[in-house]
Amino acid sequence: MPALVARRYDTGRPVRICWDNGRLGVVEPASESAESLPWVAPGWVDIQINGYGGREYTNEALTVDDVVAIDRQLATAGVVRYCPTLTTHSFSTLAHAAGMIAKACGQDALLDAGVLGIHLEGPYISPHDGPRGAHPKPFCKAPDWDEFQRLQEAAEGRIRLVTLSPEYPNACHFIEQLVAQGITVAIGHTAASVEQIRQAVSAGARLSTHLGNGCHLELPRHPNYIWEQLAEDRLWASLIVDGHHLPETVVRCFVRAKQPERCILVSDITALGGMPPGLYHTSLGDVEILDDGRMVVAGQRRLLAGAARPIGDGIVNVMRFAGVDLATAIRMACHHPLRLLGRDEPYLEAGEWADLVCFDLPAPGEKASPVVLAMVRHGVVVYQQRNVVVD
Ligand SMILES: [Zn+2]
Repeated sequence: MPALVARRYDTGRPVRICWDNGRLGVVEPASESAESLPWVAPGWVDIQINGYGGREYTNEALTVDDVVAIDRQLATAGVVRYCPTLTTHSFSTLAHAAGMIAKACGQDALLDAGVLGIHLEGPYISPHDGPRGAHPKPFCKAPDWDEFQRLQEAAEGRIRLVTLSPEYPNACHFIEQLVAQGITVAIGHTAASVEQIRQAVSAGARLSTHLGNGCHLELPRHPNYIWEQLAEDRLWASLIVDGHHLPETVVRCFVRAKQPERCILVSDITALGGMPPGLYHTSLGDVEILDDGRMVVAGQRRLLAGAARPIGDGIVNVMRFAGVDLATAIRMACHHPLRLLGRDEPYLEAGEWADLVCFDLPAPGEKASPVVLAMVRHGVVVYQQRNVVVD
């Protein structure tokens, strides 16, 4: 029976975990000294992944092999479950990509166990510069129920999360239709008024997608759509805590105002994650990676075009920026997104799925990424850097 010995993310105590047939078997205290051990947690969850390792989902030529390759690359970043995210583009590109993701899930059981559903971010977002971020203006439009249904058909029903802007007159009706189909609705890339935000929440919107990003560079001091979403207890907030998208103090304020229990970490990572500085041509247009690691819309320095660091960076950064402990940071990157999507929350207990990530944290105060040592999904060791899992 495969097993690993590590420190529990929630108690810090040494634990020996064995699994069989995809499920955790024995979970018992271990005698090793905690300081010598790596950490173990239920697998990390990221509901906003645009691509990874040179491949992106929003691509008119996306193949099943691409979808599987992204999945295996994500394993090296400790991502056990996630939402492949399709961003604003033509109907034909979105339908093709959604179809390929569905097909890949149908063919590859390991992939299927990891994909929580497709996150459709756009095209029903604001066309205004600032709120639309790097989404191409010609494709930003008002919600279109018939078109959405055709996309959902292409996706074989796998679209589970939709980010939209409630600034359009028909947005509330569209939100109600999505909610009636069991789809989670997020507000994002919006120029909506405070009143439109309130109506969207009443219609059933439950998440603010990457709160504080995909916004105007300047806003009226108050009221505005950021305060309104921050104060709304029915909205969860997803946050990109890569050190570039939100300043440290803003992360601290958002986490305090929302409370950790309503915060979700996302990476918003793109195909260019890990690539060197330079100019790249992508489905979102020309994008530049700067020397400091920021990814921006080409030709300027202020509008970010996505993120380049996986969710593990968000876990260590939110601990540093907001002063939360490891267990809380992990809940933001695991339990909370699953709860938002109506899924069971995982625990390190016998009978649970063997979905695990084993990792080393940087020393306290050190600005570094965590090191993922192993990722296990449904009992399969998808990745390990050294032999932390023994048979
Ligand atoms: Zn976005």
